[in-house]
Amino acid sequence: MPSCRNCGRDLDGSCNFCPTCATPQTDEAARRLEDYIEGRARAAGSGAVEGGPLRSRAQYALGYLGIVAGLATLTAGAGPFFFLAGVFVLPPVQGLIESRLGRSIGARPTAAATAVLFAAGAAAFVVV
Ligand SMILES: [Zn+2]
Repeated sequence: MPSCRNCGRDLDGSCNFCPTCATPQTDEAARRLEDYIEGRARAAGSGAVEGGPLRSRAQYALGYLGIVAGLATLTAGAGPFFFLAGVFVLPPVQGLIESRLGRSIGARPTAAATAVLFAAGAAAFVVV
């Protein structure tokens, strides 16, 4: 019979978490617990105080701006950069990237990456 990794209690084989000390018993269970905790922390951290809805609205606005600018300048060489920046900053895309990475990207790296893409687009616009 398997026993708990942490407290040594005998476990029923199908347990993902120890009923006594709640320690995850498989790597999969540990990962899911971590995802859950991170999700809760993110939800709590990006609440009204940090301006969660406001930030995502700003990201939508910037995203659509980037996509429109990208389509308008597509033939000028800058388009792909503006377009990428616009797509990248959209909250659903952020969510997708974050779920792929398994962690939150955070406001600053998002802003930085978006700024770099817009700057690259602007540079391409000037050069081409
Ligand atoms: Zn235990």
